[in-house]
Order: sequence, then C-alpha cells, then structure tokens
Amino acid sequence: MSGFVKAITTSLATNPRILWARPAVNLFLAGYIRKFRPRSVGGQLILHSHLPPLNSPAYARFVDEHILGRSQGPSHAQIGVTNACPQNCGYCYNRDRSGEPMDTSTILRIIRELQQMGVVWLGLTGGEPLLNPDLAHLVRKAAEMCAVKLFTTGCGLTPSLASELRQAGLFSVSVSLDHWDPEVHDRGRGYAGAYSEALRAIEVFRAQGIDTGVSSVLSGDTIGAEGSQRFLAFLDTLGINEAWISEVKPSGRESWNGQGICTVDDRKALAVLQDRYNRRKGMTVNYLGHFEGARHFGCNAGTRMIYVDAFGEVNPCVFTPISFGNVKKRPVSEVWNDMTPLFTPSSSCFANENYPLYSRYDTGSLPISPEGSSALMREAVFREPARFQRILKGRRRGS
Ligand code: SF4
Repeated sequence: MSGFVKAITTSLATNPRILWARPAVNLFLAGYIRKFRPRSVGGQLILHSHLPPLNSPAYARFVDEHILGRSQGPSHAQIGVTNACPQNCGYCYNRDRSGEPMDTSTILRIIRELQQMGVVWLGLTGGEPLLNPDLAHLVRKAAEMCAVKLFTTGCGLTPSLASELRQAGLFSVSVSLDHWDPEVHDRGRGYAGAYSEALRAIEVFRAQGIDTGVSSVLSGDTIGAEGSQRFLAFLDTLGINEAWISEVKPSGRESWNGQGICTVDDRKALAVLQDRYNRRKGMTVNYLGHFEGARHFGCNAGTRMIYVDAFGEVNPCVFTPISFGNVKKRPVSEVWNDMTPLFTPSSSCFANENYPLYSRYDTGSLPISPEGSSALMREAVFREPARFQRILKGRRRGS
C-alpha cells in the first residue's frame, strides 16, 4: 500500500467523521497529505510533526473541534517551560525577555486550560526545556490530550531522561542544528560544543525510538547561495525523520532592522524545495513557511496559535514579542479572549509583515506590554486568507 493510501485510509478509519466535512475540506486535506511521505513511528502515523499523528486521539480532536466544530480557541500552542539555557543565540525569540519564571504548578494549570480551550498540538520549548526538572511530568500531563513536541538544543540529555520522556508520551522531538559546519553552528549559538551535543542528543533520542528530527533556523544568507540544498543534503545523512526548517524571524531587537530576514522569493524557493524533497525517500522536510504559506494553512498567530513564554506572558506566536496579558494574573482563556479578536487569519506571516511597528511601542522590556500591543494592533497589516482559511471561511470570528 502506498504511503498516501495508507495515510488516507488510516486517517479515515480513525476519524470517519471527517467525511461530514465539505468536499472542499477533504479535497484540500487529501492534496496536502499527498505532498508528504507519511512515516510510522512507534505505532504513530506521522505526516509531519506540526500536526498530531493521523491515527491519534489528538488528531481526532483537531477534526472534531477545529474542522467540523466551531471552536474559537487555539489548536496549536507553545509553552516556554524555563528561560534558562546554556546557549546564547543571536536570533533567539526569548532574547531580551526577563521576569519571574512560571513554576510547575502554574505550567500544569496552563496545560489544562489550553487543553480545555481546544489545543491538540503542544510544543514545549524554552530556554532549554531539558533544564526543567519536572519536564517528564509536564509531558505526561500534556500528552493526555495533546500531541506533545519538544524543541531542544540537546544539552544535558541523558539516556534515562530520554527514556522517561518517551514513557511520558512525547510524540516528537526536534534538536537544534543550524549549519553543517560545527564552527559556524557553535558560533551562532554562542556555545562551544553545541554541534557535538546536538549530534549526541539525536543519537540518544533515536535509540529510544522517539520520532527525532532537527530544527534549523536559516538566515537569508544561508538560503541564498544554494546553502539550503547543501544543508538538507547534510541533514539527510544524520538518519533523522524530519528537518523542521524555519527562518530567522524579527523577534528580538537585533533583527528589527531587517538584517538576515528572508525575502519573499527565498521563502517561495524553500517551499518548492520542500515539495521536491518530499517526493523522494528519506527524511521529511517540514518548512514552517510551507505549512503557513498562502497555498496551505496560512498564518494563524492569535487565531489558532498561542505562545505562553517562560514568564507567563501570552503572545500570538513564539516569534512575536507582543503580550496581551500574563497567565500568573489571569486565566489563559481570558487573555485569549482579549487577544484573538485583534487578529485575522492571513496568508502571510504576521511577524514578517508587522515587525517595523515594534520599535514604536517598545518601552524597554520585551515582550511589548498589553497596552502597547493593543495599540500596535490598530496599525497591523493582514493579507487575504490562505487557501485552508478560505475553505473554512465563516467558521471563525475574523475569517
Ligand atoms: S507570525 Fe509568522 S511564525 Fe508566527 S504563526 Fe504567523 S506565520 Fe507562523
């Protein structure tokens, strides 16, 4: 049976209710699935790690609540489970943030609230999440209702911690690796030995049978000069399941001058490269700009995506340094209800479109305050909806 047929039949067997969706929805999903070679890992049928496995209860919730239902809540969330990190990347989306980190009981409450709001895919990030001593417990609780993905540098990973994470129900992990040259990677991460730690962690996760990929942040410079092709060819030699590719985003002040930000043509070229790669055997290429592009799911910052940073600040996505409230003071749903009416599903990345506004509302500490963020939103630009957003049009406020 071909991977495509297996993906469709498994998905249908697990979620027959998807047939109740309009033909346009099913045609879109079938066309999207066709662009990948689904993989089977530990009984999970995975298209790519930005979606729950097609045969998982989390995917069934995605279908029920977000495709067939009229959920006004987020489907995807990320939580910073610590701000501590031994590395010091120039492009880190948590740069310039500070405060009192959330404790474990607060993070557990946030996980419960997000689950109740409709979140089916939860990314745990940091800082370096492995430095949170309660990480396996957090994963266990989150995995009760969500597909849980970990983003890590790999620093400090031990085989026993990897085993605990697998047993807790971790669905997939991405280890950061930004360049084939160890010196370039270590320099970008401000940490000697980052490259070798990453390769070691990949082996440890793989040995546990966890779905393992690499997460890479490419700059405009790397993507030009055909660097992305060379980089993907290198990643394919590592025996990983997926290359999760994103670009340098204008999150921290250093990039608000546009330095290193990819052009529209760079993004298009990467999306084309992904489709070409995924027709062949080997690792899956999962470029964020493909998933979130105009032909697919679009930008869902603040409409289906939410990020709670390590200090409890609620942002529309990890790459946007604007806050609409703090979960240490208010329930997440309350902050969400303030934030989501200000956002519109769009075919282009909110961060890339609107970062020139940030410096106008920056008063010294990031993320920008709820007052500043709300004022900024009055000037924010949104484009026409992406294809999937158009298909679901009318099902959500603002769509
Ligand atoms: S703002 Fe950009 S990075 Fe964030 S969800 Fe939208 S497309 Fe993705």
